[in-house]
Amino acid sequence: MPLPYLLLDIDGVLIPFPAADGSTPPTHIRHTVLPTGRHPDDPVPIWLDPSHGVLLADLLTSGLVTPVWCTSWRRDATTIIGPLLGLPDFPYLDLPRPQITTSHPDGYLWKRDHVEVWLADAPAVWIDDDFTSLDCAWAAERTARGTPTLIVQPDPQLGLQPEHLTEVTKWVAQLPTARAV
Ligand SMILES: [Mg+2]
Repeated sequence: MPLPYLLLDIDGVLIPFPAADGSTPPTHIRHTVLPTGRHPDDPVPIWLDPSHGVLLADLLTSGLVTPVWCTSWRRDATTIIGPLLGLPDFPYLDLPRPQITTSHPDGYLWKRDHVEVWLADAPAVWIDDDFTSLDCAWAAERTARGTPTLIVQPDPQLGLQPEHLTEVTKWVAQLPTARAV
């Protein structure tokens, strides 16, 4: 079995949603960035926790998973977010751009159809704040078919917590041939 992919979201995971009063966690440092296609006069404020960089870099360079960005930031994940967190370079999924008004147009996360095709039969752990019960069922069915699949869902108001990465590490460690090439 190949190394599992680690699919990593950004909004609601590395950039938690602001509180109702617009405040952001004191653990997070504010940055102003210019996503691709954005007018230079209209940059975007974001906030990132430097400790995430350290925690994630340890996991991503552990050789236990193959990391891939899975985010509507697409390529900007690799050119903006990753560097700001000091992460090693890794690829991104070029997600489609459906004309949708909800992140669950068919009752499950809009990214999933693309991810499912891209993964084929590869094991995967997927960190995203926006799964539904149908996504959990999908992961369970995949696992039951012999393709280990773990969904990790941070609270979007809080974002990624150390225990989420502990869960990932434990899950990978119990895979029967996690280190097989
Ligand atoms: Mg998200």
